Amino acid sequence: MATGKINVSVENIFPLIKKFLYSDHEIFLRELISNATDATLKLKHLTSIGEATVEYGNPVIEVKANKDNKTLHIIDQGIGMTKEEVEKYINEVAFSGAEEFLEKYKDSAKDSGIIGHFGLGFYSAFMVANKVEIVTKSYKDEPAAHWICEGTTDFTLEDADKTERGTEIILHLNEDETEFLEENRISELLTKYNKFMPVPIKFGTKEKELPKAEDAPEDEEPKKVTVDNIINNPEPAWTKQPTDLEEEDYKNFYRELYPMQFEEPLFHIHLNVDYPFNLTGILYFPKLSNDMTMQRDKIQLYQNQVFVTDNVEGIVPEFLTMLKGVIDSPDIPLNVSRSYLQADGAVKKISSYITRKVADKLKSLFNNNREDFEKKWDDIKVVIEYGMLTEDKFFEKAQKFTLYPSVDGEYFTYEELEEKIKENQTDKDGKMVILYASNKDEQHSYISAAKDKGYQVLLLDTPIVPHLIQKLETSKENISFVRVDSDHVDNLIKKDEDKTSKLSEEEQEKLKADFEKVVPKEKYTVQLEAMDSNAAPLIITQPEFMRRMKEMQQTGGGGMFGMGNMPEMYNLVVNTNNELISSLVGKEEAEQERIIKQSLDLARLSQNLLKGEELTNFVKRSFEMIK
Ligand code: ADP
Repeated sequence: MATGKINVSVENIFPLIKKFLYSDHEIFLRELISNATDATLKLKHLTSIGEATVEYGNPVIEVKANKDNKTLHIIDQGIGMTKEEVEKYINEVAFSGAEEFLEKYKDSAKDSGIIGHFGLGFYSAFMVANKVEIVTKSYKDEPAAHWICEGTTDFTLEDADKTERGTEIILHLNEDETEFLEENRISELLTKYNKFMPVPIKFGTKEKELPKAEDAPEDEEPKKVTVDNIINNPEPAWTKQPTDLEEEDYKNFYRELYPMQFEEPLFHIHLNVDYPFNLTGILYFPKLSNDMTMQRDKIQLYQNQVFVTDNVEGIVPEFLTMLKGVIDSPDIPLNVSRSYLQADGAVKKISSYITRKVADKLKSLFNNNREDFEKKWDDIKVVIEYGMLTEDKFFEKAQKFTLYPSVDGEYFTYEELEEKIKENQTDKDGKMVILYASNKDEQHSYISAAKDKGYQVLLLDTPIVPHLIQKLETSKENISFVRVDSDHVDNLIKKDEDKTSKLSEEEQEKLKADFEKVVPKEKYTVQLEAMDSNAAPLIITQPEFMRRMKEMQQTGGGGMFGMGNMPEMYNLVVNTNNELISSLVGKEEAEQERIIKQSLDLARLSQNLLKGEELTNFVKRSFEMIK
């Protein structure tokens, strides 16, 4: 029997491990299963290159809990360790055997999927156990070894009589960590971290129904057998080649990833690169619910099929964190802060690779089946618009597939739109004017007025639209976006024929003064216009610039004024050709005031601007009138 001192570079590393290494105690199980997986894959590799002559077989990793002894066992059938190897790999803390193995078999082991590289994984066992045993038998023809350590720098190491190849780790759990003996808790952890690990993991047994014999009577109870309960799918879809997968396989994998998600994804993107970094994965575009805060199912990050986190901030560009799926990359440094992560060269490349792949996929969907792409547009536009706003590279690529829907459900690309409107939607400076509505119901009257004039009206209704059009206006030459209900509509657009007013100059001047007497001037600028006689008598519009600034403040992109709320200012456009208006001329003052007040309230009502006491009074007054 050998006894000795564990060789640590930092005196008393244990308290450090227990407290600071991982704030989450539960990851010890992930670490130990990763080691067991490594040990199994190493053996697989050595047998495949003929360096180990043993039978590889169908190894599984088993997890067992013993409540009486308060022990947790992790048992593998992998490479095992000789006594010397235990000395070397276990006793020299922070000396990673995985790294040495990879170094030695550099070229052949590159794709073997071996996980460990921190050299502290095993010691995370001491976060939950006060005593840890290793019983291990190497694939080499040497006696088994038994190592015991009670969480100090002392250990014992002696021969053992284990005959089957592989390693058993025995954790004697601390009094306050016995939750890790509970079946539910273990299942939960195994499903969280090890669901897609490459070696089968057994935890307990389960009942399985046998298929009935063909001639069995209808009411016969199906026979059941007890089988190993295998936790994981060792070959998840993302590890396969896209050419080996059908559409259905991708959908099945989505369900496997998110068993509680019933909505099918819209489409997927298979990621697969090995140079200049290693990355595989499948991303899904989900149907986005309007409630963005409800995003429970997130993109999961794996390293060699070991779950790491579902916080991919910094790795995946922000606008794509609304997607779902997995990415798996051994090249992402993990034990570092987020800010370091964002500055890391490999991570930056990964992030822009993902952006590019997503853009390419969208473009090919658009090219291959435009009709289907149009159908999906409403569900994907938020992501695309947000991406255009935040990633310049994506903005450029998105020009090819971004759609601009009209209020009538037609979809244009930017080029098509330009073609449509360049003739009759230019302002006096020759700028192209893109008219849009943000709400079909609320802006109904403005939309139909604009359509009557033969203008195209787009429906741009996501909350980030004000920011996006700002960006479009600065990046494209000679265009301006104008909302249908803004004052610019008529200022900007060249009218085919200037209508003349029925009223004389003096009558108009007098009328304007009459309106200004009645209408509160801190809110409304009165403006006379000769419009069609069928057009409404009064129209309230809001200056485009002011409204947009307000919207941007609301959606958080503002700050440009930093002076809190902007005042509400409107234009009151008076149609002098409307009969109600022209009939005001010459009426006595009280009557005039009554009509102006009531008309103004009606105009405000149609704009959803009449509220509270004013609304109550208006309704009362109207009832009186029809009595
Ligand atoms: P890492 O996994 O990062 O190399 P660990 O501290 O987890 O670091 O493990 C140190 C070394 O101990 C491993 O590299 C491996 O050589 C050896 N080891 C740990 N667990 C096992 C196991 N189950 N079977 C065989 N060897 C193991």
